[in-house]
Amino acid sequence: MTEAVSRRHAIGMAGAAAAAALLPAPVIAKGAVPQVVVIGGGAGGATLARQLALGAPGKIFVTLIEPARSYRTCFLSNLMLAGLHGGLSVDHDYTRLVYELGILVVHDSAQSIDLAARKVKLASGQSVPYDRLVISPGIEFKFDAIEGYDAAAAELMPHAWRRDQPIEVLKARIDAMPEGGVFAIAAPAIPYRCPPGPYERASMVAHLLKRQNPRAKILIIDEKESFTKQQLFLDGWSRHYPGMIEWLPLKEHGGLKAVSAKSGELQCEVRNFRVDAANVIPPQRAGQIAAESGLSDASGWCPIEAQTMLSTVDRNVHVLGDSSRAESMPKSAESAASQARLAATAIMREMDNSEAPKDRIANTCWSLIGEDDGVKIGATFEPTGAKFTSTSNYISVVGEHPSVRRRTAGELLEWYQFVTSEMFGGAA
Ligand SMILES: Cc1cc2nc3c(=O)[nH]c(=O)nc-3n(C[C@H](O)[C@H](O)[C@H](O)COP(=O)(O)OP(=O)(O)OC[C@H]3O[C@@H](n4cnc5c(N)ncnc54)[C@H](O)[C@@H]3O)c2cc1C
Repeated sequence: MTEAVSRRHAIGMAGAAAAAALLPAPVIAKGAVPQVVVIGGGAGGATLARQLALGAPGKIFVTLIEPARSYRTCFLSNLMLAGLHGGLSVDHDYTRLVYELGILVVHDSAQSIDLAARKVKLASGQSVPYDRLVISPGIEFKFDAIEGYDAAAAELMPHAWRRDQPIEVLKARIDAMPEGGVFAIAAPAIPYRCPPGPYERASMVAHLLKRQNPRAKILIIDEKESFTKQQLFLDGWSRHYPGMIEWLPLKEHGGLKAVSAKSGELQCEVRNFRVDAANVIPPQRAGQIAAESGLSDASGWCPIEAQTMLSTVDRNVHVLGDSSRAESMPKSAESAASQARLAATAIMREMDNSEAPKDRIANTCWSLIGEDDGVKIGATFEPTGAKFTSTSNYISVVGEHPSVRRRTAGELLEWYQFVTSEMFGGAA
C-alpha cells in the first residue's frame, strides 16, 4: 500500500508535477520547482535525498520511494552474527527525513519507469512524474547461474546478502549445525556487493563457532583465485582460528555449478561437497528496476558518467551505488554515499547553471577478523569519463601492533554511525 507521509509535500508534489509538465527541456531549469524522485532508500538513495533536502531547502521537491518502512543495513550484519557490533542497531527508519527535512517518503515499489514521459509507476498503480530521477535499487541475484539455487533454496542455504534476508536466518542455520559439522561459504566472482564481505563473514562465523562448536570447520568455495585483503585475512585466521577455515580458490574446484539445498550438496566442476550448513552468495547484477527500464547494459550493471553519476542511457536519470558500473570503485555503502554526494552536487549546480566541481571521492572498507582486530583498505578516486581513477590507496599490514588493530576496529563502528547518520539523520 502506498503511504505518502508528508501532507505539506503531497501538496507540493502536485505543484511540482504541474510545473514539471510545463518544462520544455529535460533539464533542471533555473526558476522552476524541480521534482527529484529517488528510487531506493538505501546507502545511495537515502544519502542523496538527505543531501538535496539539506543543500537546497525549499528549492527542490524530493520524493523517496522505498518499500521498507525500516531499512536493515547489510553493513555491520557480519559483526552482529558474532555479537561484536558494539550494541549498535542495524535497523533505521525514515522518520527524520520526513519530519526534519520534509522529504516525501512513499513506502511502495517502483514497478516501471517511463523514461520518455519521465514518470515512475508504483506497484499501487500511482504514477509519479519527475524532472530528474535518481535510482539506487541495489542488487538483483542471478538465480539462474547456479542450478538448483532459486528463491526457495535460498531459504535453506541463505545468502543474507540483501536487506530482505536478515542475518538471523543464516545464524539459525549455523546454530543448528551438529557438533564438528561443516559450514560452507560460496563466494562469487567480481564484481559483487562488498568484496571483503565473504571473508569478514568467515571470520565472524569462526568467532561464533569457536565458542559454541569449536570442532566445526568452515570452507570458502571461491569463484576467484585471490581476494581483497587476502594476506591480512589468512594471517588473522591462522592466529584466531587455527585449522578452522579452509579457503579453496577456483582452481581447486572449478566453480560452483549446482546445489541441492535439501541434502546440503554443493556440486562444483571438479569436486563435490556435502555440508551441514551453507551460505551461498550468488552472482549479481543491477537491481531489477534498472534492468527492466533498459538502464543496464550487457555487463548487467548501469553505465554512468562518473562526474555526475548520470546514466549514459538517459540524461534525466542518475544511477548510484551497487547498480552503477562505477569502475574502479568497489560496490560498498561508502562508495554509494560518495556517489550520492557527487550526484547531489551536480543536481544543485545545474539549478544555477554552474559547472560541477571536480570532486575527489573516497572509499574505505573496514573488516573485523577477530575481536578488536580490525583491518582496512581504502582509496581516493577522481571521476574521469565513464569511470573513476584511483589517485591514492592504502591497506593495513600484517604484523601491526594490537593497539593499531583495536583502533581500526573502533573506526569501523564510528564509520557505521557516520554513514547511517548521513542516510537517516541523527547524531553520528
Ligand atoms: C554482509 C555485508 C557487509 C557489508 N559491509 C559493508 C561495509 O562494512 N562497508 C561498506 O561500505 N559496505 C558494506 N556492504 C555493502 C553495502 O551494503 C552496499 O554496497 C550498499 O548497501 C549499496 O547501496 P545501494 O544504495 O546501492 O543499495 P541498498 O543499500 O541495498 O539499497 C537499495 C534499496 O532500494 C530498494 N529498492 C529496490 N528496488 C526498488 C524498487 N523497484 N522500488 C523502490 N525501492 C527499491 C530496496 O528496498 C533497498 O532498500 C556490505 C554488504 C554486505 C552484504
